[in-house]
Parts: sequence; structure tokens; C-alpha cells
Amino acid sequence: MINKKELIYMNIILITILSIFYSCNNSISNYYLTPISMNFFERNTSVLSKNILTGKENPNTIQYFVKVKSEYCLYGEQYLHKQAYNAYIDMYKHAQEEGIELKILSSHRTYYTQNWLWETNWEKNRNKFTTDSACVKNMLDYLSIPGTSRHHWGTDIDILSVSPEYFTYGKGIEALNWLNKNAKTYGYYLSYTPNREIGYNYEPWHWSYAPLSRKYLKQYIETITIEDLGNIKGISTVHFNEIINEYVLGINPELLPS
Ligand SMILES: [Zn+2]
Repeated sequence: MINKKELIYMNIILITILSIFYSCNNSISNYYLTPISMNFFERNTSVLSKNILTGKENPNTIQYFVKVKSEYCLYGEQYLHKQAYNAYIDMYKHAQEEGIELKILSSHRTYYTQNWLWETNWEKNRNKFTTDSACVKNMLDYLSIPGTSRHHWGTDIDILSVSPEYFTYGKGIEALNWLNKNAKTYGYYLSYTPNREIGYNYEPWHWSYAPLSRKYLKQYIETITIEDLGNIKGISTVHFNEIINEYVLGINPELLPS
């Protein structure tokens, strides 16, 4: 039998344990409503779930993602991993002092947005090619297969424009020169550098926050399989190993995990 005094002590211990849990989680109800494994992924920002790695999570529901203030965006609602966002703000302010405006055109992108882009391009281009395979190869010059985009991780941003010409004159080339000189100081590296032999075309606008994206790339190649990508138009014409080796890993070598 437990006497009244022991019961009070047990209650105090229970309340203390619950308080510690509460302080570790933003919401105790959230803790109980969320599967433990998911909760672990959301709290530990150096480990991402497969759903986050492939962009299948709503950025609003990921605790360490933040909405980018509209003053930093060209348009639309943008989300970034908060660590990448803080580094971006520091870089933005430095550039602004030197007369350069590094506004974000696109940052986090979900699997579903990427799939919409993929299917829109597929419908537009399929008739130009004799085979599905040739169409996919052409689209892979400039577009990622849904579930394989670095934009899913909240670590990568497209700055100012996605037109290669934009970065050859005026404000475009000034911004690119500034980024080539200074972005590394803030952890940002160009993902799709010029003169690579494999992978996507050169993208002077796409910059990646390396302290996080190197870790996420390692997790990606260790955990993601073709089944995680889902049913995508034309995907049966490419081998998964080819997607990984040529496109996911065919990037600026400075962004590869050590
Ligand atoms: Zn991009």
C-alpha cells in the first residue's frame, strides 16, 4: 500500500519530469501527438527525416524552418532553415552596405511544387523528342527530379533571377562578382559551378549553405532510395544510381561531404 505522503512525493516527481519534458518541447501536447521518431528529427536539426529530405513536409510544420521576411524576397512566401537564414541575413546586410541587393527569388521548395514544375515541363517538351528518355535527359539540364532537389532542405537559395543572361551584365554581374568574392565567408557556396563535366547546367543564381547542406547530402545518399521519389513522369527511363552520381553528386566539389 502507498500512503498519502508517498503519493504526494510521487506526484511531485511526476510533475518535475513533465516540466522537464515541457521545457524540451515547445508543446507537451505536440510531444504526445507526434510519433517519437518524428519528434526526434524535428528537434535534432543535424538529422532530417526522409520526408524532409525529399521535400514532402510542409515547411510550416518543421520547427527549425522560418518564413523569410518579405523585405528579403523578390516575391511570394519563402522558407529557410533558420541557421541558413541567419547567415543569409548577415550576408545580405554586408552586400547592401556595398550597394548590392541579394534578394531571394526561391528558397525552400516542396516535392509537390517540384513535381508541378516537372510535369509542366514534361507536357511542354515531350513532343520535341522521339523518346521519354531523351526528354528526361534534356529536362535534367536545368530541372531536378522531384525528391532530388537541394531546395527541399531549406539550405539552398536562388538569388535575383534564374536567367543565365541576367548575370552577364549590370546588377546581375555585380551581384555575382560580389558573391564569388564574399559568400564563402557566410557559408554559402555556388552549387552548380561552371565547367563541370556532369550534372545540371551552370546556375550562377543557386547558392547553398554548406555547414548544413554537406550533412544533409550525406544523409540523402545514405538513406534515400528510388521508392522514396514516388511515381514521376519519365523516371523509369533513368537509373537511380545515375541520378545520384551525375546530378545529386555532380555539384561543386566544395559542397560534397568529407
Ligand atoms: Zn535553385
